[in-house]
Amino acid sequence: MDRSPNAVNGAQDKGAKKVIPPGSTIGVLGGGQLGRMMTLAGTNLGYRFITLDPTPSSPCGHVAEQIVAGYDDQEAAKKLAERSDVITYEFENVDAGVAALLEELSHVPQGSRLLYTTQHRLREKRAVEAAGATVAPYAEIGSEQELSEAVARLGIPSVLKTATGGYDGKGQWVIRSEAEIGPAYAELSKAGTELVLEQFIPFVKELSVIAARSPRGEIRTFPVAENVHVDNILHASIVPARIDEKVQGEAERMASRIAESMEAVGLLAVEMFLTEDGRIYVNELAPRPHNSGHYTMEACATSQFEQHVRAICNLPLGKAKLLTPVVMVNVLGEHVDDVKEAVATGRWGAVESDRIASANIVPKVHLYGKAGSAAKRKMGHVNVLCSDVQEAIDFIQQTAIWRSQPI
Ligand code: AMP
Repeated sequence: MDRSPNAVNGAQDKGAKKVIPPGSTIGVLGGGQLGRMMTLAGTNLGYRFITLDPTPSSPCGHVAEQIVAGYDDQEAAKKLAERSDVITYEFENVDAGVAALLEELSHVPQGSRLLYTTQHRLREKRAVEAAGATVAPYAEIGSEQELSEAVARLGIPSVLKTATGGYDGKGQWVIRSEAEIGPAYAELSKAGTELVLEQFIPFVKELSVIAARSPRGEIRTFPVAENVHVDNILHASIVPARIDEKVQGEAERMASRIAESMEAVGLLAVEMFLTEDGRIYVNELAPRPHNSGHYTMEACATSQFEQHVRAICNLPLGKAKLLTPVVMVNVLGEHVDDVKEAVATGRWGAVESDRIASANIVPKVHLYGKAGSAAKRKMGHVNVLCSDVQEAIDFIQQTAIWRSQPI
């Protein structure tokens, strides 16, 4: 069988449409918080979980069995395949050799084509365009000369990015003057990957929509999240997003079209920019549960994690309806001690518990059980359920924990 990523799509493989019933074992490549929350949700449906991760006692390893080995360890991957009825992953930079091996030995309904596409910004942009959605005007860059020409065409500022391997704003340079062309090229070309230059989009909001698609072709989208980043790391997601209902509908339809066109299986997170005049540009895709979908855990009829399990097991998808307004705020290393204190005492910094009660605020805490805490490291999140998102925003801003980070 042809195993090149272009030819392979798990959803089209023989047997890919089989239903994996509760009681089966789900193998998860990667043992971080996404695997952990997937495990917690899937365990409620009666599945068993086994994860592969190099760090002993990983966040997922607390709640699932764990094979301790590197992600590129083919022997360990074989062991995972033998033990699992179905395999998924919690990050997109899965080694291509391991992905192909797992597909051959086990059942990987997400296939490797989706990974192949989303691992590379240029391939991803072409796939988004093929689905009829818009991306920021861009150019492929192979030399400093090409960069100069592209900057002249796309304008200043523009954003130079590595095609692979960047996340949370790493592997990026916002070129704000011609003088930065040389240094930007010198710095980013060190990564040894292709580069892409994007026109700078003067967005008014960053949005995301998480779509789920199952092998049987059913698609559901979660409500649009309005995302606020601080230092390029997601700080908060506000749902419902404070945007026109028409734009919300358009963003959800766009995510659904992209999932359909790419024949995605499982979750596909679609990050977008919204401009003043109501235009939506797709920035990035992630074929997995996404930080901006953590709000679904208490605020939606089905969480993104349960939906992912349902999709890869080819169960009917759950309703993705929003049950309550919510603001999700991330707990980074610098916040985690104060959040633990709040869990232990019920007091959130300067915000008194009776005020929380009277304001209809319900802060639901999720901590990932990571052994080492460091500044900027994602340690957990809090879903602040509310009757109006402004109440939750006020609560978050008033606690000493997040006061210095405006929403
Ligand atoms: P990314 O790694 O592509 O998600 O980019 C990280 C952040 O950089 C985004 O969340 C935006 O805030 C900003 N950014 C990236 N690309 C652009 C662009 N073309 N125009 C404006 N801002 C951008």
